[in-house]
Amino acid sequence: MNSKLFISLVNPMMVGVFTCMFACIWLRIRKPYLGYVTAASGIATVMFLVQSFWPFKDPQTNVVFLNVALLTVIILLSNAALVRAGQTVPTIPLLVISAGFLTAVMWFVYVRPSLPVRVHVANMAMVAIMAFTIRGLLPARRSPTDNILIGVSSMCVFYFAWRSISFFLFETEGLQFGTFTIDVYWTMNLLITLVMAVVLAIGYIVVLAHDLYDEIRKESRTDQLSGILNRRGFEKAALSWLEENPEAPATLAIADIDHFKKVNDTYGHAAGDRAISRFGQLLAQHAGEGYVVGRIGGEEFAVLIPGGSAQEARAYVDTIRQRLCKQPIPGMPQDFRFTASFGLRSRSSMETLSDMLRGADRALYSAKADGRDTVSVELGAVKVIG
Ligand code: GH3
Ligand code: MG
Ligand code: MG
Repeated sequence: MNSKLFISLVNPMMVGVFTCMFACIWLRIRKPYLGYVTAASGIATVMFLVQSFWPFKDPQTNVVFLNVALLTVIILLSNAALVRAGQTVPTIPLLVISAGFLTAVMWFVYVRPSLPVRVHVANMAMVAIMAFTIRGLLPARRSPTDNILIGVSSMCVFYFAWRSISFFLFETEGLQFGTFTIDVYWTMNLLITLVMAVVLAIGYIVVLAHDLYDEIRKESRTDQLSGILNRRGFEKAALSWLEENPEAPATLAIADIDHFKKVNDTYGHAAGDRAISRFGQLLAQHAGEGYVVGRIGGEEFAVLIPGGSAQEARAYVDTIRQRLCKQPIPGMPQDFRFTASFGLRSRSSMETLSDMLRGADRALYSAKADGRDTVSVELGAVKVIG
């Protein structure tokens, strides 16, 4: 294999491998952004093959094909980044840029052929698309993964700007339109394009790994029935807040549905499940900012109210009890209502989660002993200094 053939095959081979890799991942993990990346990679593979071998007899057809392919690849990559971040794709700006770009390409290929103008128009259009992408990504949540895609998109902006600048610098070296000449400009271009493709592929693999890790972690902390935190998730979140704020006030509420065995026995386990789910959702819907809400057992729930007094917790719990009186449960008679008992424990300074759980449990026990459908409050000992 001679060096010219080898160099011309490096980019299509590399991007072809990325396409196979992304296609395999996408077939298993049907995330829309992976679909966009796979399509972009596939079209880029064909684009690099056309760029290397100029398969169409008419050189202008090759040029038009390459420009349309480049535009499609960049739009797909832009969509991938925006869709992943949950941001809207700026359809109108993209359509305007694409229409302007395609008109300019046709004009400078067929009407007034000009390689330098066409190259600059193409690069500027790509810079504009990537700039809109970055603008769309900036208001996203800005997790480390969002920042990776902002970084990779910024690299694309520099890459296309560099292509324009380098073209100016090497223009005097004598570029030949329609032929593959391994001169300094093209070799450098191929290498930098290869680096860009590798960075993009690695960027998306890292983003995917992060996303999957986050999903697994979230799933391991979520209760499948009610959608709120499970015991493990609740303990992690509550512990971390209490440890970070050792002196801060807080109140813990524990709720247990009354006579739930009877509910199951009378209406069936599936209806019981719906009641548990509805109760968990009610607790979450009425929770204030920063509340940690979890299902810690079969029909037992806990809510940590960070910085909250026993009065605030009481008001919250009363709202839940009122809502319980109003909500019918699907699959149960219209007039059926269940009740719950609540135990509240307000925190003494430095009290740990286990101390609070024990206190709230004692309060819950007295609420049950008091006849159920009630609230019992255990105030933490006031720490006297001195
Ligand atoms: P109490 O008022 O004293 O709390 O009475 P109870 O009947 O609710 O008593 P207990 O807490 O002992 O019973 C809880 C029942 O909750 C037992 C179990 O069958 C039921 N249970 C636990 N987990 C689930 C679940 O995921 N789904 C359903 N449908 N039932 C569950
Ligand atoms: Mg129970
Ligand atoms: Mg119960």
